[in-house]
Amino acid sequence: MANDIMEKIVSLCKRRGYVYPSSEIYGGINSCWDYGPLGAELKNNIRRFWWKSMTYFRDDIEGLDASIIMHPRVWEASGHVDGFTDAMVDCRKCKLRFRVDEVSGKSCPDCGGELTEARLFNLMFRTHIGPVEDDASIAYLRPETAQGIYVNFLNVLNTSRRKVPFGIAQIGKAFRNEVTPGNFIFRMREFEQMEMQYFVKPETAQEWLETWRKERMQWYVKLGIKAEKLRFHEHTEDELPHYASRAFDIQYEFPFGWKELEGIHNRTDYDLKNHSKSSGKDLEYFDDSTGERFIPYIVETSAGVDRTLLTCLVDAFEEEENRVVLRLSPEIAPVKVGIFPLVKRDGMPEIAKKIAAQLRRHMKVFYDEGGSVGRRYRRQDEVGTPFCVTVDAQTIEDDTVTLRNRDDMKQVRLKVSELPGRLGELMQGEENTQ
Ligand code: ATP
Repeated sequence: MANDIMEKIVSLCKRRGYVYPSSEIYGGINSCWDYGPLGAELKNNIRRFWWKSMTYFRDDIEGLDASIIMHPRVWEASGHVDGFTDAMVDCRKCKLRFRVDEVSGKSCPDCGGELTEARLFNLMFRTHIGPVEDDASIAYLRPETAQGIYVNFLNVLNTSRRKVPFGIAQIGKAFRNEVTPGNFIFRMREFEQMEMQYFVKPETAQEWLETWRKERMQWYVKLGIKAEKLRFHEHTEDELPHYASRAFDIQYEFPFGWKELEGIHNRTDYDLKNHSKSSGKDLEYFDDSTGERFIPYIVETSAGVDRTLLTCLVDAFEEEENRVVLRLSPEIAPVKVGIFPLVKRDGMPEIAKKIAAQLRRHMKVFYDEGGSVGRRYRRQDEVGTPFCVTVDAQTIEDDTVTLRNRDDMKQVRLKVSELPGRLGELMQGEENTQ
């Protein structure tokens, strides 16, 4: 059943241009995926929804876009060179490779074969800067975007003249040489993160952790995800990452089980302290109103763009008797409105094209004049387009069109001149509640 649904989603994504296997004409490459026209649009909309929630609708967070390749000493100070490892084992019989935490206490899940001793494997991708490939030229592709924020803490503080508490938000690619990637775009080797690091007075960190975990849960609900499919998971002592004193995951119930969507961590002063020590730069914060000096604690919210996109697709996917429908919220749906002439004559295409041209200035529009109108509706339902406008014989008489809603398939008639306003209202319902 679970596989069945994932297979259907993967197939829809390929067929309709959401996600393709990467380098497909060469047979694909394990765990790498490309976003097609609709996927690229959906991804942009998710990024924008997050970016606005962090840096537009609040007054305490600045944006940043740091380099993917950083000074290699960043990754020594952060603990990644020594500690960002997974223990892996191989099955002597079927030769498959597993992460130890996936198979602990079991023999090889499918074949029952004997497992090798565990070996540690660093997940960072290594490369070399410049033409000489020696130890001095080693660099890493960042395995998380967070470190770009920590090393710019003073820069942002000074240029924005912020006072603690404040945050820095960043969206960007991260790379992990995962031992076992899989479940479509759930776990990839190249992926994108949306991270916000919030700098606070040490004694207020626990309070901020509470605030942020509530905020972030609400964000997924506003994104249109069903609340009953979301839950928190608090890390137990032995699940805590090396940098965190307390950590929560927001999990979603995927067809393959409850899985992490986002981590919300109290990272204490671990990162700034280590970077301060390693770089020799004083990363203390000086509060000129109280005269206090301290290294801020950091409350981190770390989400994945790709994982959020998968969640949106899985959550929105529904099979009804006569149609497949993606109930994406209008704000993130790749195409907002389909515009159709009922038939390809009597001046209808011309009017429909004119309407499309007008609406294009405000939103992503798809014009379609091929096949029966019922089929055209179904095609838009399947990719999640929330509204369709049809030009018919009556349009020529009284300048009205039908506006069809994807979710209940109901149609209303309205004047062409009312369309931009009505669609704008319907589209921004979500945003206004932020
Ligand atoms: P996991 O336990 O699933 O490996 P993690 O705890 O290592 O995840 P974090 O380091 O907290 O994950 O990363 C924050 C977020 O980045 C995750 O919640 C997820 O949304 C995203 N993410 C991490 N690794 C991947 C990956 N390999 N592919 C896609 N998204 C990822």
